[in-house]
Amino acid sequence: MSLSLNASRATKIVATLGPASSTPEILERMIRAGVDVVRLNFSHGSGQDHIERAAMVREVAQRAGKEVAIMADLQGPKVRVGKFAQGKVTLEAGAGFILDAKRSELGDAQAVGLDYKSLPRDVKPGDTLLLNDGLIVLMVERVLGDAVHTVVKVGGELSNNKGINKLGGGLTAPALTAKDMEDIKTAMSFRCEYLAISFPKNATDMEMARQLANVAGEPHQHKTALIAKIERSEAIPVLDEILRASDGIMVARGDLAIEVGNAAVPALQKRMIKMAREMDKVVITATQMMESMIVNPVPTRAEVSDVANAVLDGTDAVMLSAETAAGRYPVETIEQMAAIAIAAELSEDVTLDADFTNKRFGRIDQSIAMGALFTAHHLGCKAIVALTESGSTALWMSRNKIHVPIYGLTSQLTSQRKMALYRNVCPLLMPQCDERDEALARAEALLVAGGVLKPGDTYAITVGEPMGHPGGTNMLKVCRVG
Ligand code: PGA
Ligand code: MN
Repeated sequence: MSLSLNASRATKIVATLGPASSTPEILERMIRAGVDVVRLNFSHGSGQDHIERAAMVREVAQRAGKEVAIMADLQGPKVRVGKFAQGKVTLEAGAGFILDAKRSELGDAQAVGLDYKSLPRDVKPGDTLLLNDGLIVLMVERVLGDAVHTVVKVGGELSNNKGINKLGGGLTAPALTAKDMEDIKTAMSFRCEYLAISFPKNATDMEMARQLANVAGEPHQHKTALIAKIERSEAIPVLDEILRASDGIMVARGDLAIEVGNAAVPALQKRMIKMAREMDKVVITATQMMESMIVNPVPTRAEVSDVANAVLDGTDAVMLSAETAAGRYPVETIEQMAAIAIAAELSEDVTLDADFTNKRFGRIDQSIAMGALFTAHHLGCKAIVALTESGSTALWMSRNKIHVPIYGLTSQLTSQRKMALYRNVCPLLMPQCDERDEALARAEALLVAGGVLKPGDTYAITVGEPMGHPGGTNMLKVCRVG
């Protein structure tokens, strides 16, 4: 059997598909270079485009011999200006500019329409509005009916449909638009492993998304995991309830930085990663990680440090957006990102004993998972193996830093792909087996064949009896390969 069980890198890579990466040839090279999760960005393209791309991802992944997860990322209620007669205008500092929800004609240098009609009700004099990723700054002077009168603080070029953020947050647009609801159906039809929700402000937004996804998934007998993109100020004080309602979060630094200010983001990133791991959730660090590689063949020193620091913060995954969607060097970006992650992981401290001090486990399966970690670390095992239906055991194991790779063996293809996002977990498919000793023997054979284990190596393996029921892990066995 030829298997490549590459466990040399613990941190996972999420790459966004786009024009630069939409051919099977490039995508195959990207997957071979280290992509673990492919992100389909529903802000661009039609439903049919995404269905075709998802089919291509499945096919190419199989050819590359590596299952990857698909993350469908919904557009959400991005608040935008309308279109301009000339396609764009230049705003001068000190000039007045009107955002008019009632305006139906195309915009000019004095005024523009809005596709988000509630903006006039969400702002008051003195508020700061940031347009085009914060490059243009407007201050609200007064609101007259449906027209928001502003004065330009920082001018520049403003083109069609650029986004609007309010400093400090407070735009009331609901997290799920009519388009998002349609897109959820599309994403469930190709059985996305992850569904990312843009701009949720509380747990209710996530619960609503969960309900819609579950209903849309029923005909396909598919349940997806939900990622909350943390990119609104309102989400910060209620992070723990959002985490509880989600399977993971994305540190969505692009929009977040505009709403809370650039300087606040690094500390928030650390806090979010720590909280997510403590609550047994996954976390993705996103946006501008290798930005300069959109046009350059090498990253800046600052980008290298940024990726390394996210790894040291303990993120499950680092994400690429325009770098792989529209950049010149999609494959090279992934190669470099993977190399940075591997080097950073080498310097990572294992603090398992301190992490366990005074820790209580609420569940049998979870305590078995922790027992496996503790044993593997102190005995110097080559591998930790989890026979897992849903992937939960592997998820719990991966919430603590440890330099022993975790192999998640499942009979469920969806679980295998889902585990692709978990830090330090190498997911593998193993056919269903109802007899415990037989399953243990097959697991060992699989890892020996894959070159992970050789005679004399010790490993820790967890299993649940009766076999084949999720949530039933209740045994830990420590073995030496004979
Ligand atoms: P986006 O989300 O790329 O969909 O805007 C990520 C972010 O805002 O950082
Ligand atoms: Mn965003």
